Amino acid sequence: MSKIKIMDEILANKIAAGEVVERCMNVVKELVENAIDANSTEIKIDLEDSGVKRITVTDNGIGMDKDDAVIAFSRHATSKLKVVDDLFNIDSLGFRGEALPSIASVSKMELRTSNGKEGTKVNVEGGKILSIDSCDLRKGTIITVENLFYNTPVRLKYLKSLYTELAYISEYIDKMALSFPNIKFVLTNNQKTLLSTDGSNRLLKVIHDIYGLSVVKKMVAVKNENMDYELSGYISYPEVMRSNKNAITTLVNGRLIKNHDLIRMITDSYHTYIPPDKYPIIVLKIEVDPALIDVNIHPTKMDIKFSKMDTLKELITTTIKDQLEKLTLIPDASLETKVEGVKTSIRTNYTPKTNLEFDPQEKQKEYQEFEKMTLNFEVQEEKATSFSKGEEPKTEKKERIKKMYPVGLVHGTYIIAENEEGMFIIDQHAANERINYEYYLHELANPKRVTTDLLVPLTLEFPTNEYLRLKQNFSCLDQLGITYEEFGLQTIVIRSLPVWLTKAKTEQAVRQIIDIIIQQENFQLEKFFHHIAATVACKASIKANDHIMLEDMEVLLERLRNCDNPFTCPHGRPTIITYSKYDLEKLFKRAM
Ligand code: ZN
Ligand code: ZN
Repeated sequence: MSKIKIMDEILANKIAAGEVVERCMNVVKELVENAIDANSTEIKIDLEDSGVKRITVTDNGIGMDKDDAVIAFSRHATSKLKVVDDLFNIDSLGFRGEALPSIASVSKMELRTSNGKEGTKVNVEGGKILSIDSCDLRKGTIITVENLFYNTPVRLKYLKSLYTELAYISEYIDKMALSFPNIKFVLTNNQKTLLSTDGSNRLLKVIHDIYGLSVVKKMVAVKNENMDYELSGYISYPEVMRSNKNAITTLVNGRLIKNHDLIRMITDSYHTYIPPDKYPIIVLKIEVDPALIDVNIHPTKMDIKFSKMDTLKELITTTIKDQLEKLTLIPDASLETKVEGVKTSIRTNYTPKTNLEFDPQEKQKEYQEFEKMTLNFEVQEEKATSFSKGEEPKTEKKERIKKMYPVGLVHGTYIIAENEEGMFIIDQHAANERINYEYYLHELANPKRVTTDLLVPLTLEFPTNEYLRLKQNFSCLDQLGITYEEFGLQTIVIRSLPVWLTKAKTEQAVRQIIDIIIQQENFQLEKFFHHIAATVACKASIKANDHIMLEDMEVLLERLRNCDNPFTCPHGRPTIITYSKYDLEKLFKRAM
């Protein structure tokens, strides 16, 4: 190749680098995916200063011969180019071939590789090959990328703080470890281990290594299938919440996917189990005929399109909801702090704390406990399997909370109750809200609406703009079984109401319903009914500081027990927490 041509190529690579390589994570991603493509079973990622100073990726894959090692740095290393459609049919993560030369053009790079017969060492700086030597090496590849962006200072400045860069990399490696539980991943930064999995092909073990034991204890296996899709994986109890969606991992045919609709299907399945701005921890594997998906929409962003969205949604929703319905979801008050504990908060916010470090001794202890615990999980997974085959006929509604006996009221707000299993603390407002919510929802869904005429009609006046919006949505009032008449320019008179509504504080409730109607956009019946029921339920329920009597508590607890979901209010907050008998004994050091 002529000198000019080489310069052109280096320039082209630098330009391409600007598009492909924005942050250290992109480099790590490229190198790790190459390592996976090389059939590695162990991949170690060592960073210095979050990768800005140095990134070393060591694998035990098939390695390269001398020719391949050199050609890997040429812009059109076609052996690596893959056809997009093949992505989901073959084992490759594919789709690259240009990233390696691009990375080389903005860094100092050393490649050491061996296919078991010959070892080759290539040094590249700013895209120029400086030397090609033979070297000793066991089978595999070691790539070191140093001083990333040293010759493109603008890009260097663009890098965020070291912690942000590290957070991106750490999140990516977590997801790869979840995608490939059969590969051992180790990630270190400045010699501190951030993640170490064992490659034993147990997904739950990887979840443990990433999120810790307290989270794994609150995970439950799911498995189900329909004509088009096969689902499996783990979902968290609603009490394990995150403030962002990062802990929702979805794999389609083994490939990591980020799809908004898919994530919405999952979070919607937790509706009213979790507050709207919180998210569960999920690892969901979806197997599907590649013909039913379209990968062309944005391969680099890991997004795809499903052609049978409806059946997928149906499958995900029923699988998660059925599983949640089978569980007793009373958060253990004595465990609360642990679940929301240190590791959790770091993962969520990535505040740089020394706790990010990995304590081998603590890990070892955790690991033993994990091994003990997984015995239970295997049983659970088997159950999940048989459930999917429909062998298990749906049994009648199981008692999800044993009968509780109220003892008293604390702060006019929390009912203390007990039974042989332990002590319970119930938020009287949240509990009442759940009861009313389910009742209203039931009534709203009832096609035969019993209405009653008001003795004194309700006259409601609105500002013009609001009235116009209301007018546009008059059909919503019909939906609810509210009869009304227009009266003048911006007033309506309500003459009759559905019976259930008259039990609430009527005028306030009607006003709130109309507010919802005025404010709503993109009408969806189910959401509308939820919103109405939750709002009216809040209004109609006992408040904090209402000092109710023991008999009222008894009735409340019984009705709560009979709810479809007695564990959370319609806004996703807990109605009940518990100290088990054993917890109490432990806390008072009666049992050690
Ligand atoms: Zn409320
Ligand atoms: Zn609530």
